Amino acid sequence: MLSPIDETLKAALKEILIPDLGHPLIHPQILLGAELSNRRALITLVAIPPIQNHLETLTPLIESALKKLEGVNEVSIVLTSHKSPPTTAPREAPKIQKLDLGSIKHIIAVASGKGGVGKSTTAINLALSMKNLGLKVGLLDADIYGPSLPHMINIHDKPATTEGNKMIPHIYQGVACMSLGFLIPQENPIVWRGLMVMGALEQLLKDVLWGDLDILVVDMPPGTGDVQLTLAQRTTLSGAVIVSTPQDIALIDARKGLKMFEKVGVPILGIIENMNQFICPNCNHSTPIFDHGGARKTALELNVPLLGEIPLDLEIRVQGDSGTPLVVANPQSPSALLYKRMAEQIWTQLSKE
Ligand code: ADP
Repeated sequence: MLSPIDETLKAALKEILIPDLGHPLIHPQILLGAELSNRRALITLVAIPPIQNHLETLTPLIESALKKLEGVNEVSIVLTSHKSPPTTAPREAPKIQKLDLGSIKHIIAVASGKGGVGKSTTAINLALSMKNLGLKVGLLDADIYGPSLPHMINIHDKPATTEGNKMIPHIYQGVACMSLGFLIPQENPIVWRGLMVMGALEQLLKDVLWGDLDILVVDMPPGTGDVQLTLAQRTTLSGAVIVSTPQDIALIDARKGLKMFEKVGVPILGIIENMNQFICPNCNHSTPIFDHGGARKTALELNVPLLGEIPLDLEIRVQGDSGTPLVVANPQSPSALLYKRMAEQIWTQLSKE
């Protein structure tokens, strides 16, 4: 999954020493990957104590060394518990250990290229619809930069913990829900660095008493960053659902997200076009405010399913923002039935795997 060492990145890191060891960071047993993609440098280091203990010091050093290079805008650092093979052997991409999430049959990511397209709204309504199909469902709000699940279900309490220090998810309408927003007050923004992101996401996955689940729906942050990469590397994702609004600009970003999942071997379950058209609640006239049909075209071009087209529906917005998702507030409404149909399609695809 990780590419070999990019020599330009490696050269930029050569002055950095690991505090307790005195070795340069570019030691072949420590630097396992240095890859540049989309102006983002991805550095993979082996997770030995001198690295873990001095991350606070090392992270800014790595960032400043790499950001001086032309073509590097962003730096992500990933730790892996695997050591590289001996230097005499041909270098293979390190295998990153998967988390043991054995009680969860399927994990799916609900992703979008950019924020504000209705990804979280779609994720919760899909999760609730899957529950209504009789499945055991969990919903993980992995949008650690802006968790919205507490607001969407109007639950803000800290989760209880077991004696073994596992967090017990809140159960909303039969769906096990977990969000960083339950743990951290919303008014306390956190500046996340690559490694903290990895740690937080892993905790939300493995330190939660999810119980037996047919499906865990993961509401991803927008874009293609550390959370996406960590989730793809540390879990076995059964698939990804991409949510986009119809405008070209949103679709361009959606394509990027889609390509990223494909690159890391995650099947695309389909695209959902959200806010596809406005249907006037008074006269039923339909207006394609943001244009529409873009996702259909994109799905055709990329040969992935179009799961559905959800209108810009005032009821989705009002119910969602008042803490009762549409599928709960008005399960027979046309949009709630659309979510149901999409949930059925997703489950049909997963059951075939
Ligand atoms: P994202 O997770 O992509 O940032 P959200 O799910 O938080 O987006 O949605 C952003 C806003 O748009 C919210 O106020 C939500 O209620 C509203 N919204 C989402 N989908 C629809 C829709 N189909 N019709 C009307 N409002 C919607």
